[in-house]
Amino acid sequence: MVKDNNCLFCKIIANEIPSKKVYEDESVYAFHDINPAAPIHIIIIPKPHIESVNSVSNSNSKYLSKIFEVIPVIVETMKIKERGYRVITNIGEEGGQTINHLHFHIIGGKKLDTKIIND
Ligand code: 5GP
Ligand code: ZN
Repeated sequence: MVKDNNCLFCKIIANEIPSKKVYEDESVYAFHDINPAAPIHIIIIPKPHIESVNSVSNSNSKYLSKIFEVIPVIVETMKIKERGYRVITNIGEEGGQTINHLHFHIIGGKKLDTKIIND
């Protein structure tokens, strides 16, 4: 598994930094965001260090399909599957990415702003 020793999310996967885990298997890890934007705010990440959507290719796209298989399971557990929620990934500096390890925000638990992008 590719690990970047300077990456916060790699350290969370390795349990070097504590997190509130909501799901884990051999290829993905999900945990509560430390600074939630809504009542439910979960981050789901691939275990290997992939920088962002920009680094997705045929060789690692299986992690993307796994993430999107797991999202319905997590939102069911969180009781927001039928209520609705939002999945977001930020890419690069202008996209607002602050941690350079591919991650998807799962946000819900309240009626979200109908404006998708707050710029
Ligand atoms: P980004 O802005 O890169 O799309 O999202 C990074 C997210 O990681 C932010 O929502 C931020 O609150 C969250 N985050 C940053 N550091 C930590 C941490 O140490 N633990 C947890 N659980 N979340 C973190
Ligand atoms: Zn990483």
